[in-house]
Amino acid sequence: MTPAQQFASDNYAGICPEAWAAMAEANHGHQPAYGEDPWTQRAADAFRALFETDCEVFFAFNGTAANSLALAALCQSYHSVVATEIAHVETDECGAPEFFSNGSKLLLAPAVDGKLTPAALEQVATRRQDLHFPRPRVATITQSSEVGTVYTVAEVQALSATCRRLGLHLHMDGARFANACASLGCTPADISWKAGVEVLCFGGTKNGMAIGEAVVFFDHALALDFEYRCKQAGQLASKMRFLAAPWVAMLQDGVWLRHARHANAQAQLLRDLLADLPDVHLLFPVEANGVFVDLPEAALAPLRARGWRFYTFIGTGGVRFMCAWDTEPASVRALAADIRSVTLELQDKGNAA
Ligand SMILES: *Cc1c(COP(=O)(O)O)cnc(C)c1O
Repeated sequence: MTPAQQFASDNYAGICPEAWAAMAEANHGHQPAYGEDPWTQRAADAFRALFETDCEVFFAFNGTAANSLALAALCQSYHSVVATEIAHVETDECGAPEFFSNGSKLLLAPAVDGKLTPAALEQVATRRQDLHFPRPRVATITQSSEVGTVYTVAEVQALSATCRRLGLHLHMDGARFANACASLGCTPADISWKAGVEVLCFGGTKNGMAIGEAVVFFDHALALDFEYRCKQAGQLASKMRFLAAPWVAMLQDGVWLRHARHANAQAQLLRDLLADLPDVHLLFPVEANGVFVDLPEAALAPLRARGWRFYTFIGTGGVRFMCAWDTEPASVRALAADIRSVTLELQDKGNAA
C-alpha cells in the first residue's frame, strides 16, 4: 500500500487551510491588477509589522526566482557571490542566479554542518583581489540550511560582521525561514535585519502555501527598480492578490510559525524513533524540519518497494526525510517502523550469512 504522506520533500504537501481560505476570500469581484490591490498592500504591511521595520516586499512565483532576482539586484555582472557548495542557488537552480545577474559567478565555500562560516567566507572572498577575477560582492546563506541545521543569531551576526569588513552584501535564502524561526524561538527581526541580513527570500510554499515567495528588502536603496526585474523575469503576477492574500492569512495570529513548529516537531519525532537503530546514523543535528540519515545501501530498495519516496542526492548524500506543515505523527511512525523492519531484516540476513 502506498503511504498517504511522503517525506521526499516538504513541498509534496498541499495547501494549508488558512492559505486556501484566503485565496477563496480574495476571490470576490474585481480588484486592480499587478499588485495595486488591497490584499497586496495588506500583505506588505503584515511583513512590516512582523519584521518591526519599514521593509520593502515583493512576491515571486517560486524560490529560484526570488533568490536569483534578489542576488541579481545586489550584483553587477562582473561581481561574484559566495555560497556554500551545497547551497540551493548552486545545486538546484539550474544556473538561474548567474543567468539573471548576467553572469555573476558563484564562489563556493565548504559548509560546516551545512553552514557557511566566517573563516570560509573570508578565505573565499579574499582569495583573489585582482582585476582578472569576478569581484566578491555578496554572501548568501540558507536559513534553515539545506541539511536541516539552523544558523544562530550569533552566527549570522558574525557572518554579517565579516561581510561588512569585506564590503559584501548579505542575502538569506529563507525557503525554510519559518522553520528556523520556530527552532530558534527568536523574532524574525532578530535573525534577519537586526543580525545584518539585507535581503531575505522568505519562503511560503514549503510552509503550506501554493505559490508566492516573498523577497524582503531591509534597505530601500537595494530595492531600487526591483519591480522591473520581476516584470522582466516573468515574475510579476497580474492577479497578484492570489499570491498576497495567503500571506495575509499566514502572518495572522502566527499561523506561519505554528505550521513550522509542527513540521519541526515531526522531524524530532522521526529522529527519536530512529535513535536506537544500530545501522541508522544521523548525519546532521535535527534543528528544523529535515532528518538526514545514513542508511545501509541495501535498505533503500526495500524502503522504496514499500512505497516510500525520498531523495539521496540532496545535501551531502545519505537519505533526506522532510516533514511538512501537515505531516501526521502516524505517518512518521509508519516510516520509522518500515526503516526499523527493513534495517533489522538486513542485519538478520547479515548474521545468518
Ligand atoms: C525549495 C528551496 C528553494 C526554492 O525552490 P523552488 O523550487 O524554486 O521554489 C530555495 N532554497 C532552498 C534551500 C530550498 O530548499
